[in-house]
Amino acid sequence: MFGFYFDPLYVVMVILPGFVLSGIASTWMKSAFNRYSKVATRRGFTGAQAAERLMQQAGINDVRIVRSQGYLSDHYNPVTRTLALSEQVYGSNSVSAIGVACHEAGHALQHADAYGFLMMRSAFVPVVNFGSGASNLLIMLGFLLQSQQLLLYGVAAFALVVLFQLITLPVEFDASARAKRLCVEAGICTLDEQSGVSKVLTAAAFTYVAAFVSSLLTLLYFLYRAGVFGGGSDD
Ligand SMILES: [Zn+2]
Repeated sequence: MFGFYFDPLYVVMVILPGFVLSGIASTWMKSAFNRYSKVATRRGFTGAQAAERLMQQAGINDVRIVRSQGYLSDHYNPVTRTLALSEQVYGSNSVSAIGVACHEAGHALQHADAYGFLMMRSAFVPVVNFGSGASNLLIMLGFLLQSQQLLLYGVAAFALVVLFQLITLPVEFDASARAKRLCVEAGICTLDEQSGVSKVLTAAAFTYVAAFVSSLLTLLYFLYRAGVFGGGSDD
């Protein structure tokens, strides 16, 4: 039972690439963020002020900006209409802080525009919560009971998780594209500061790409083990 934990194919196809990808993603993100945290923007807006300005210019008055705990815990919550900025972002006028704050404001702008991929992603949240819980249980039971049927159901549930991560990508890329364009248009940063913003946001976007690729590899592995590619669960 749980044979896949000791399956060399699982190690080579899922564990190793997942380890390498998440390592690259977090190292890249931290190094870009820390580097541009030391570079102050000339106009002097803090992260909170920058986010406020972008939302005001877009006519958004019903989103609250709050402080959040934890390094890089910044996010926009479309349900509560709150934009949470971490300590390193909220009161800082660094290039990193401006980049992250404008990215989160970009999500609020997407929400106000009813941007398709964001709407799709929000609608998908309950489905993916169910899918990730069900997939773990079904895949485990599938291996335990040597049931290909259960394994296939588990893999189908896991495919929902992968699909969710795929839908997340255009949402993240678009929020960053808005941030890069609007931070200059709104007079928050200069053109040369914009290249720093771009570097921080590119590094941040890679964490989502890495998570998606890792999950996709996991999905392909389970599809193979479920016999979809003729692999079968021969262990
Ligand atoms: Zn984002």
